[in-house]
Amino acid sequence: MNAPDSPRPSALDWLVEAARVRDAEGLHRTLIPRHAGDDVLNLASNDYLGLSTDPRVITGATEAVQTWGAGATASRLVTGTTALHDDLEHELAEFLGTASALVFSSGYLANVGVITALMGRGDLIVSDGGAHASLIDGCRLSRARVVVVDRGDHEAVRTALRERTEDRAMVVTDSVYSIDGAVAPVAELYAAAREHGALLVVDEAHALGVRGRGGRGVVDELGLTGAVDLVVTAVLSKSFGSQGGLVAGPATLRDHLVDRARSFIFDTGLAPSAVGAARAALGVLRAEPDLCDRVRDNARRLAAACDAEAPSAAVVSLIIGEPADALEVARRCRADGVVVGCFRPPSVPPGTSRIRLTVRADLDADQLDRVAQVVNRARAAVVAADAVIR
Ligand code: PMP
Repeated sequence: MNAPDSPRPSALDWLVEAARVRDAEGLHRTLIPRHAGDDVLNLASNDYLGLSTDPRVITGATEAVQTWGAGATASRLVTGTTALHDDLEHELAEFLGTASALVFSSGYLANVGVITALMGRGDLIVSDGGAHASLIDGCRLSRARVVVVDRGDHEAVRTALRERTEDRAMVVTDSVYSIDGAVAPVAELYAAAREHGALLVVDEAHALGVRGRGGRGVVDELGLTGAVDLVVTAVLSKSFGSQGGLVAGPATLRDHLVDRARSFIFDTGLAPSAVGAARAALGVLRAEPDLCDRVRDNARRLAAACDAEAPSAAVVSLIIGEPADALEVARRCRADGVVVGCFRPPSVPPGTSRIRLTVRADLDADQLDRVAQVVNRARAAVVAADAVIR
């Protein structure tokens, strides 16, 4: 107990010390607001096709607001389902070649929803080591036993499935890993899952609009569209330039999610503007399937100019090493008018802090060359400074 005249400490006092420790480790994060009219090149967004600012997509959002209002007004199960939601779900299912699709108000919630609705105590989930945090959190919330294997290690997946004592099992993976844009061995993971009676959940967040025929993703590329025991999740917040997530699969799955996915049931429906924007974006992608070739060409050009490995998707990843150095490279890039992503632990393993450049289809060759120049200069300056210190 405190003496009566001393000020009562706050239960949040410990946050000051926690922030100091994060600061010392170079792990303190800050939010840097964008301002309308900022004259910067943005290489940190997930707006791969540049559709968030496309006039057709903006019109889609605007018309939806005018017809349906600013918010969905309630859960999808109450009054939050508009005819627009229904249309989008049918169009997404048709595009992805599945019997049905269900949209959630974010990709994060779609992943959490599908995993927790299908898996519970007494089940097994084998999680690929490169899986996005939303898949990881779905695994944790499900209360199933979770085995995490090294990224892409399909033999370890097979072993975990073979040695299980549980009846029901699921394998979860990204198709394009979010950290560096590499493609996961989806065909091998699917074969392992099928061999052992498990379901494969593939998150195509970074593949939709970027890989596969007309941007239909890695699953399409592998000829696995509509395959049994394969469920696709994806987002409307990257290539589609909008907001929201989706689960695509058989109609029985959609039905089950509507009844059982807590992140669907207890969440206000996706805002009509986001639905309208996503529908318009899907229309643009259908009309201009070469958009996904353009973004990948741009990624290859930028990677070559930065001496990076040839990218498999729209992400160019440059490993810097220590968090403070990665931050400094990002800071120098920003000072020169180029915004880049900066990934540090716990998002990446210690010692692999990096700069992530996400390319867009709407950048031209001059802009890409300028980005490479700025990034290369920033990297060289940080390496030179380190050499002096050592
Ligand atoms: N899956 C992956 C692979 C992601 O990278 C992200 C977010 N960046 C999500 C899911 C979550 O999507 P959202 O941002 O729409 O919640």
